[in-house]
Amino acid sequence: MSDAQTPDSDLLDKVINLAKRRGFIFQSAEIYGGFRSTYDYGPLGVNMLRNVKNAWWKTMVQMRDYGPLGVNMLRNVKNAWWKTMVQMRHDVVGLDAAILGPPAVWAASGHLETFTDPLVDCLKCHGRFREDKIDGVCPTCGSTQFTESRAFNLMFKTQAGPVEGDGATAYLRPETAQGMFTNFMNVLTTSRKKPPFGIAQVGKSFRNEITPQNFVFRTREFEQMELEFFVPPAEADEWYRYWIEQRFNWYLDLGIPADQLRLHEHAKEDLSHYSRGTTDVEYLYPWGWDELEGIANRGDYDLTQHSTHSGTKLEYYDQAANERYTPYVIEPAAGATRAMMAALRDRAGRRCHPRHDGLPARRLPRGRGRGRSPLGTASGLASGALPGGRAAPVEEARARRRQRAGAQPSAAPLQLRLRRHPVHRSSLPPPGRGRYPVLHHGRLRLTRGPRRDRS
Ligand SMILES: [Zn+2]
Repeated sequence: MSDAQTPDSDLLDKVINLAKRRGFIFQSAEIYGGFRSTYDYGPLGVNMLRNVKNAWWKTMVQMRDYGPLGVNMLRNVKNAWWKTMVQMRHDVVGLDAAILGPPAVWAASGHLETFTDPLVDCLKCHGRFREDKIDGVCPTCGSTQFTESRAFNLMFKTQAGPVEGDGATAYLRPETAQGMFTNFMNVLTTSRKKPPFGIAQVGKSFRNEITPQNFVFRTREFEQMELEFFVPPAEADEWYRYWIEQRFNWYLDLGIPADQLRLHEHAKEDLSHYSRGTTDVEYLYPWGWDELEGIANRGDYDLTQHSTHSGTKLEYYDQAANERYTPYVIEPAAGATRAMMAALRDRAGRRCHPRHDGLPARRLPRGRGRGRSPLGTASGLASGALPGGRAAPVEEARARRRQRAGAQPSAAPLQLRLRRHPVHRSSLPPPGRGRYPVLHHGRLRLTRGPRRDRS
């Protein structure tokens, strides 16, 4: 019999090993040798972390009061995204990577070199401006005399640990995407996915914008909802078009009027260096049409860059075809506060009852069936086939649930055991459904149902 009161020197190692093997927690920037004391939460870990945070939120906010409207509305936007993009799909898993990263990651991604805006100083009033925004005239004093323009990197640079110097330099991530690329092999191995599959993440990113503007549209600290969808190169175009349609429909399903949404495809000469095609979902903001979300075909740029810089091959070996390839990436990248702003504009001037979920009225689902989210069905998840003649995700998700009901401990996310509030019992999973880690003879094991005394 094991005694939880007795210190077990091996236990921490066991926890760490289990976390890595099952896809709970990875060392951050592992392919670059890791970044000390910084960790990324893998497909199972991100679910567990969400459960912890949701349980806290439920008990501390939702069951006590309705809380300020803004934070609830933002949560609803992010939860709607997560539900559509991760929970209702068999081919997407989640991730929650660290915000701090070592320079090696940003050297490989190209951000150290090219993530810059042209900065000039006014020689008269010493104001600093983005050269491409001022037409050669100082907006403050009207002077036309400026310094030479120089490249200003938009990343926030900081120091990790108590010493200064190159070895301790860290950057706040300017996008969540790189965490999905550096964890590509970790996720591939632990989730047993194969292309086409995606890794999704919601989280804060930071850009030291020279001129933040338009309320919460462009801010130095912002929150992204990004999917990196890895596909066989030959299918990239088809998946690119698939995701444009899916993402456009998602905003309609969120309740945003169709006449305030449009698609804008970037001209070839305007594309970023890595992009083979980019289309924006645009919204009619108070200042005109502007970006709500960008969907890009990034080719194999990211995985190739990180393979080259880290020395770790980021490829997929297709056993059936006996071929090895670097997947292409289709990236739908959305801004949480931009979506919220679109929803807010729709509500401006109208009275918002505190009990309202903070989003515009959702349209009714087009599909049939109980318990389906209007977001999911209306997005064509249940009706449409996937590129490459694959079955619709909802159907496969059902098959996966049936499979999960069998004995496959590693396939089900660990659930946290929660003390149930009697009033809300019905809204929590029934006993015996989840699998829980228990300590048994000094080993961590997964077991079903509430923990029994095993001594
Ligand atoms: Zn000036």
